[in-house]
Amino acid sequence: MQADLIIHNIKTLITPYPSDLPVCNDAFNSIKTLENAFVAIKDGTILEVGTGNYQAFVDATTELYDAKGALAGPGLIDSHTHVVHGGSREHEFEKKMAGVPYLQILKEGGGIHSTVNATRKISEDALYAQAKKSLIKMMEYGVTTVEGKSGYGLEKDTELKQLRVQKKLDQNLPIDIVATFMGAHAVPEAFKDNKTAYLDEVISWMDDVKKESLAEFVDIFCEDHVFDAKESEYLLTAAIKKGFKAKIHSDEIKALGGTELAAKLNAVSADHLMAITESGMDALKDSHTIANILPSTSFYLNSTYAPVRKMIDKGLAIALSSDYNPGSSPSENFMLTLNIAAIHLKMSPNEILNAATINPSFALNRQGKIGVLEKEYQADIVLYDAHNWPYVLYHYGINHVKDVFKSGHLIVKDQKYLKE
Ligand SMILES: [Zn+2]
Repeated sequence: MQADLIIHNIKTLITPYPSDLPVCNDAFNSIKTLENAFVAIKDGTILEVGTGNYQAFVDATTELYDAKGALAGPGLIDSHTHVVHGGSREHEFEKKMAGVPYLQILKEGGGIHSTVNATRKISEDALYAQAKKSLIKMMEYGVTTVEGKSGYGLEKDTELKQLRVQKKLDQNLPIDIVATFMGAHAVPEAFKDNKTAYLDEVISWMDDVKKESLAEFVDIFCEDHVFDAKESEYLLTAAIKKGFKAKIHSDEIKALGGTELAAKLNAVSADHLMAITESGMDALKDSHTIANILPSTSFYLNSTYAPVRKMIDKGLAIALSSDYNPGSSPSENFMLTLNIAAIHLKMSPNEILNAATINPSFALNRQGKIGVLEKEYQADIVLYDAHNWPYVLYHYGINHVKDVFKSGHLIVKDQKYLKE
């Protein structure tokens, strides 16, 4: 079969091996490497990944794209962000640096409250424009699929506004945005003595979310002073009954049993896990739930990192995400997340590639479609201006991405997003 597009003159191509299950154990430190490679693409899908001569795929209409000796890998998948939100929090950053505790900032109406207020007030157009700017940066850093959550409304109209804006962005921009409804991100002041009543409200909004196809996943913040494991089970069980898949923010500060709950409910991912226990690790090991690690948040808060080496040794399937949000991880630079994973989580380059491509495809229920450069996968491809993958992780803090293809279309050229 003839290709629409052939990317050739790739010095080195790196990719996870295809797998029907999340990658863990010995396979987690293993990737496939091809030298002098090409990728042939037809209708946005990979027709062939090979080395040497590609003439068999060329006809008069085939476009040839010279990678000029670049390193090529799969489009990166950032499977945990809060990309659609109003406002920013630089005023609190100064207080935080001066040593004012987060609880004090929260009491003064700051922290998550300030983002909730800003997100409630902002118009749909302004919310769209702010998130669009972030999504363009993400694409320029090699991200071709991103997850985004609601959760800065804590009231029906704003939660739906966030998700509607996100859906419009997904339709209008080349990046794929996978949506999660997270009305249970915090407890609104009015419900602080009756969390179940709030959860019942959130559960009732799920019907609106479903009706407009605004989200595939439902997430909850299982944490001390937010929602406990029982409350999380109550909400997620209702969500699963309504046809959503579950995700959970668990063991970020305190282990309350949220990770064990994720395994029990067959959640696609348990996220954060800085305070994960032996029992949480055992539960994940016996499940298909991805351990989604967000090291940029630990870095930015100057706090503890998830015990990832131990989790890898136990055989857990690890993914890495940026957790992009205005409070604890205000950076769209996913490449920096990968640098931090190398430096602070002590992950190897091969492990990091698997954790930023194939494993997050499972956390987003897109396995078999994205995250691997192999026949029949979506042609989401990043070309790096680097001689090898370890160099990208070692030479930190800058953008090594040169060009990005989404479904076979060039969307970023020389680090610049090509306007639609
Ligand atoms: Zn989060």
